[in-house]
Amino acid sequence: MKCMYLETDERRKCCGCTACEKVCPTHAIKMSPDNEGFLYPHVDNQICVECGLCNQVCPFGQHKDNKEKIPLGVYGFKHKSNEVRILSSSGGAFTAIANMVLEKKGVVYGCAFNDKYEAVHIRITTCQALERIRKSKYVQSRLDDIFLQVQADLEEEKYVLFTGTACQVAGLSKYIEQKKISNKTLLCCDIICHGVPSPLIWKEYIEYQRAQLGGMIQSVCFREKNSHGGWTPLVMQIRTTEKVYKKQSDSDPFYRLFFDHYILRPCCHECPFTNFSRPSDITIADFWGIEKANSGFADSLGVSLLLVNSEKGASVFNYIKEDNDIYQSNIQECLQPNLQQPTAINPQREQFWNVYYEQGFLAAMKMYGQDSWKIKAKKNFAVFLRKIHVLDIVKRIMRKTR
Ligand SMILES: Cc1cc2nc3c(=O)[nH]c(=O)nc-3n(C[C@H](O)[C@H](O)[C@H](O)COP(=O)(O)OP(=O)(O)OC[C@H]3O[C@@H](n4cnc5c(N)ncnc54)[C@H](O)[C@@H]3O)c2cc1C
Repeated sequence: MKCMYLETDERRKCCGCTACEKVCPTHAIKMSPDNEGFLYPHVDNQICVECGLCNQVCPFGQHKDNKEKIPLGVYGFKHKSNEVRILSSSGGAFTAIANMVLEKKGVVYGCAFNDKYEAVHIRITTCQALERIRKSKYVQSRLDDIFLQVQADLEEEKYVLFTGTACQVAGLSKYIEQKKISNKTLLCCDIICHGVPSPLIWKEYIEYQRAQLGGMIQSVCFREKNSHGGWTPLVMQIRTTEKVYKKQSDSDPFYRLFFDHYILRPCCHECPFTNFSRPSDITIADFWGIEKANSGFADSLGVSLLLVNSEKGASVFNYIKEDNDIYQSNIQECLQPNLQQPTAINPQREQFWNVYYEQGFLAAMKMYGQDSWKIKAKKNFAVFLRKIHVLDIVKRIMRKTR
């Protein structure tokens, strides 16, 4: 079996969406992980008939950034229920859309943790099951046979909501188009995405936490809101039968490796979806900057950004807007880095992976996922200045001197 994306440069062209594997008429393509834990297609040349369908269905290189394209609508969104917002990453836009589909006896696809705390896509048909899909899991989700399940649902003319990253949505759309299946009852919702971290490093991190905390893991949450009453700062919470771990994103090692761009899938650094030319009907995200755009609408429990990209998306939005809090915004107010360009690669990415291969996860985490002594000293000094109520004064003086 030969990987279609063996070379590093080639790997940047594959998002692992599974469209090529599923479309192959002779089942010559199988997805298997590389040494960073990301899935890539491997072709069995003995069975391959060189029909070229795999290349035709690939969404990654084919997506063109249409600079002229702007959304039909840009909105701030707050779910009417504060409880839903606490259980969601931002304003609970996903729950409102999913509930609408489930009320119509439809099915919903989205990312959940399985019993090993791996991120995988699942299919649900009840509102009770929604809680598994709610909240962001900042790790690449495995699609397995999801495209085949969506196909079966569409062939039965079920109302289907598929949610995921833009590249997953684009892969599904290409697959459905290639298979000539009607997408009349398919609604696609993507997220604005900073990039997807490595499932291998996530597994290492979870095993490390399990050993540190003791007991069995009961829940994992990347966006815990209860303890500090808000959606910022981002808080990682891991609950075991013995202990509860809680750390803000700037001091949790997994978040550090994610936000410092050591562990993103290589193609994320060349993502063609970091603009307003979206492959979905509706895009959801965190509405960063809402307090500047409309301080009255900003809220500590979180606000979703919602982009309406198609007529289908507009009719869904018109339905959900009735019951929830909406703020009509525009493309200037909602601009954020991953609507403008792909996340830049960390120049030390290769060194991180070399340390990981040679010395293991603990060494790599200590070296790259924690503060250096200089940053630690700086943070401690800032805490001290805050305690004696002079931090703001010192900051002001420093700004002036600069
Ligand atoms: C890897 C990743 C990177 C992100 N980067 C950004 C960003 O740069 N800027 C920004 O504004 N927002 C980003 N988001 C989106 C943001 O975290 C929230 O998902 C968004 O605000 C919607 O929140 P909500 O309250 O409406 O619903 P929630 O209930 O929080 O949303 C859940 C939705 O996210 C989907 N989802 C969760 N994890 C994954 C995953 N691993 N892969 C695919 N889909 C997933 C679910 O299927 C569901 O549709 C990112 C999300 C992920 C998963």
